[in-house]
Amino acid sequence: MAANDAVEMRNGMRSADMHKYHQLNQFFAWDPLEAPNLRRCPTCVEEDLARYGVAHWRLHHQWPFTRHCAEHRTPLQQACVRCKKSPFVEKVAIQLAHDDCLLCGHHAHFTPLIDESPVKGPAEAYWSLLDLAFRALKGEALEIRSFDEAALRRRGITMDHVVSKTLTRWNCRSGVELAAKLDIVVQEDNGARKLKNASPLMMKLAVLNCGLEM
Ligand SMILES: [Zn+2]
Ligand SMILES: [Zn+2]
Repeated sequence: MAANDAVEMRNGMRSADMHKYHQLNQFFAWDPLEAPNLRRCPTCVEEDLARYGVAHWRLHHQWPFTRHCAEHRTPLQQACVRCKKSPFVEKVAIQLAHDDCLLCGHHAHFTPLIDESPVKGPAEAYWSLLDLAFRALKGEALEIRSFDEAALRRRGITMDHVVSKTLTRWNCRSGVELAAKLDIVVQEDNGARKLKNASPLMMKLAVLNCGLEM
């Protein structure tokens, strides 16, 4: 992917500008795509240091449901092992991914994220979604562009079937449950829990993932 495309895709994934993103990948960005704490993969950090002398943050580590590096399958890290804080939450200053803890100065590794918040969905569904989202980010998930709802309908498969298969795969009874597994914000409205957005990107991707297999 050309650098310009990558920048445009990243901006699209971070904004609610559906039109731009729709053109790029035929799905929409509605939900916040970044976790509250910056996360890093220790293997990516090592590779960056060897190659560039500095380590950078990667967008695909920041998706809220993500617990692993899609490239290395390493558990992500988000907090200092000594002070247990994530300096990046405090927004004290901008750091690079290889820097020491900004709060206590501790050098060396961060606490693995997976110890604090394990994957919430079945492993197969989780890895499959992570792989698809990662390939989409790189512009390599070409099957998303050719997803054809009309062709499915001609085979007697409706989007309701696809959604139902998605919920089964994720071991959920409702969209709200699936959203919770994907760490998508759910808000209370007149006492009823409902999704903040109609079609958050990762939900849509999870459904597409199943639809593509049908
Ligand atoms: Zn990595
Ligand atoms: Zn610290």
